[in-house]
Amino acid sequence: MDDFAGTKPAPPALDPQKDALFLDFDGCLLEIAPTPDAVQVPADLPQLLTDLSERLGGALAIVSGRSLRELTRFLAGYDGPMVGSHGAEARGMTAPMEQMPDGLEALQGELAQFASDQGLLYEDKSHGGAVHFRAHPERQAQAEAFVQDLAHRYPGFAVQPAKMAYELRPDGYSKDGALALLSALPAFRDRAPVYAGDDTTDEPALAWAEAHGGYGIKIGAGESAARFRLDAPQQMRDWLASARED
Ligand SMILES: [Mg+2]
Repeated sequence: MDDFAGTKPAPPALDPQKDALFLDFDGCLLEIAPTPDAVQVPADLPQLLTDLSERLGGALAIVSGRSLRELTRFLAGYDGPMVGSHGAEARGMTAPMEQMPDGLEALQGELAQFASDQGLLYEDKSHGGAVHFRAHPERQAQAEAFVQDLAHRYPGFAVQPAKMAYELRPDGYSKDGALALLSALPAFRDRAPVYAGDDTTDEPALAWAEAHGGYGIKIGAGESAARFRLDAPQQMRDWLASARED
């Protein structure tokens, strides 16, 4: 049974001295559109986020499944921390080395050697590496078999298919993992995590906020680990605007 009718209350007013704010993007700050590119970003949203970030001493971050590139484009004018691709990329923070799985350099070495042997392009990445087969599409199957074998032998890494490429990146990125990383940063440390999101992919992060001294805000209908609910992104933006003007 859905409790959209109101068994979950609206969230309390944000406390700029004590809270840290983590915000999902689509369906939370913005209404969902028929296609991902058709979303409408309210003209004042970047400024609202910028003002709120200042009130919070920098303890505000966007946490989205979108790529960092798209987030940067949609929120031009807002310069605060952003986590994209469900935690696999971030702006305004560097992933602590203790988060890096064992074997990064060995894995990169093997991947580079494979690429060299096959005449393919190797791309070094801070969190892994990629092999591009655009120049030799006929070697896709070999490349795929090799990266799958690598992921099997380096269990901290997972294969991320890309355009004419296979990438290896650390396994297990998630929005709750991103919250744990962000919360270790000076601006966020010792604050109560408040997470807002609309989707089932947000549930681990909503639960994380609830379990770490803060709370979750579920946007829209549906079961949720969050204690609080707002009906739609417009109510979310109103809640944020009232926190700016307190
Ligand atoms: Mg969302």
